[in-house]
Amino acid sequence: MKFFARGFTRQNIVAIAVGVFVACVPLVVFNFWLSGVTNRIGQEEIELSARNAIVRAEYRLTLAANALNALAAAGIGTCDAAERSAMQRATFETPPVKEITILDSAGHSICPQAADVAEDMAIRRVYSSEPLSKSQGFAIDVLTVGTGQRMIRLRRPVANGTNEIAALVPTMLLLPQYSVELFDAHAAGAFAGANEDGRSSGIYARMETRNGAMLGEIGHRPEADAGDLFIGNSNSQQFGLHAEMMVPRALLVHRQWQIRWLGFLVTLAVVVIVGLLVAFLSHREPDNPVTDIERALAAGEFVPYYQPIVDIATGQLRGAEVLVRWKKPDGSLVLPGSFIPLAESSGLIRAMTYDLMRRVSDEIGPAIGQRLGLKVSFNFASKLFADDAVVQDVYAIFAKSPIKMSQLVLEVTERDPIENFAVTRQIVSALQGLGVRIAIDDVGTGHSGLSYMLKLGVDIIKIDKMFIDSIGTDRNSATIVETLVDLAHNMRMDVIAEGVENFEQVMHLREIGIRAAQGYVFAPPLPGSAFLKLVEAMDALGEGAVQERDAAAA
Ligand code: C2E
Ligand code: CA
Ligand code: CA
Repeated sequence: MKFFARGFTRQNIVAIAVGVFVACVPLVVFNFWLSGVTNRIGQEEIELSARNAIVRAEYRLTLAANALNALAAAGIGTCDAAERSAMQRATFETPPVKEITILDSAGHSICPQAADVAEDMAIRRVYSSEPLSKSQGFAIDVLTVGTGQRMIRLRRPVANGTNEIAALVPTMLLLPQYSVELFDAHAAGAFAGANEDGRSSGIYARMETRNGAMLGEIGHRPEADAGDLFIGNSNSQQFGLHAEMMVPRALLVHRQWQIRWLGFLVTLAVVVIVGLLVAFLSHREPDNPVTDIERALAAGEFVPYYQPIVDIATGQLRGAEVLVRWKKPDGSLVLPGSFIPLAESSGLIRAMTYDLMRRVSDEIGPAIGQRLGLKVSFNFASKLFADDAVVQDVYAIFAKSPIKMSQLVLEVTERDPIENFAVTRQIVSALQGLGVRIAIDDVGTGHSGLSYMLKLGVDIIKIDKMFIDSIGTDRNSATIVETLVDLAHNMRMDVIAEGVENFEQVMHLREIGIRAAQGYVFAPPLPGSAFLKLVEAMDALGEGAVQERDAAAA
């Protein structure tokens, strides 16, 4: 449940919508491609069917022609008894051939016929007689016999004399066959002819001679426009035949649907994969800490806490250091140690710091602005000192804030190396020009070396807790701290002791001349409301307000 709640943010819904849209593109492209492919397949298939019909007819007629050639070569030409039996054997051995006879120069059969077949095989009508240009001496006739069956008569001259030897082949054996594979069962049924309303809906095929004498046709010629039909043609040079086949394009739809389904399934698979990917990524998103910080920043989850800084000589409040806290939606607080390094390396630290500054200005600005003696200190990653835009940015944030520039302190830690010293130094003095003070944080722990850091011309040094802890126990540390304090005073810098946890430490610090301190002994980092109460309690009207009131009274 949590997974889905997390998965269906607005961003993810948009991502899913885009994903589905993108996944549909293949479907559209696929359908477009498919209609092209099916058209091509249909056209190729019908042409191939016509070609096949011609090849099959040529094959059968070649068998007949070969039989005639063999008989002619054997000297047959008079139809005597021996020749008749040779011709009968050849008829029997050559499947498409129904009868072989000898014709005289007038074209009449000179072979006596058995009484039982004479009637059936008698020539009724001759539709056409055409010489075959390619096959020497051959001619074909289209005719009908006594049974009404249409035949092709293939004939050639005999070896000696003017007679001809002829073979009868039923045209039925030469007609095209349809491709069952392409044009499915529905089409096969329709092949036989018209459907119930009498209109042809199937495949139509016919075969004719070069001069247009019809050998036969199958089905009914479709009434559709040529554009709605696949039409295939093929010719036999050898036997002067022409085959034509046509089929309505709609008959291919059955096939197309199978392929469309495939396309649909492929698209569905793509959509599911994209969907899973989106869900997976949105599920993973919280695992990406940088995105998480980015989101939290936008959601305003980074809030300021305030640790008071106290004057240990007078007990007065000097101000506070702002320490960021990540307030998660579940109410838990995350300490900066676990996200500041990432915010710095990802570059988010700039936005985070500026956001924090605005929040501080909104939250405690009025109270601080009334008390000019109080200072507010921000931790500034050394990175932020690398670009002089920071001067303008800080100015813009506080220009209209009740908090004055002179109340601002920016802390730069000694822990991080300074990348471009010259630029940083320039920026430091530009900020100081605005009245802002600069502090070196964590003094004593860094690698840069204090003398190097001091060349930046800073105003305050903050001595790290590590040294404060060892005062009173470790003589060397005490000496180092004393030296630091002397150095600071000589350079007219303020010193703040960090991480002060007990009153013994306070006494020691006082003895060596440190005036400002922060630590749990006074207060931990406080939320804004608590800090404001403390400000009220310790400085009811504020030094500035008191002065103003006195001035007004005078
Ligand atoms: P820091 O600037 O040295 O801040 C002082 C840290 O010491 C704070 O830790 C504070 O809560 C803790 N502290 C204060 N008094 C005592 C004490 O008496 N005893 C002990 N044991 N600790 C004490 P916190 O708040 O966890 O901050 C850790 C670090 O995170 C800070 O060290 C600072 O370097 C960084 N940080 C915090 N806020 C920001 C920010 O807004 N920007 C940047 N760039 N860094 C920040
Ligand atoms: Ca600090
Ligand atoms: Ca520090």
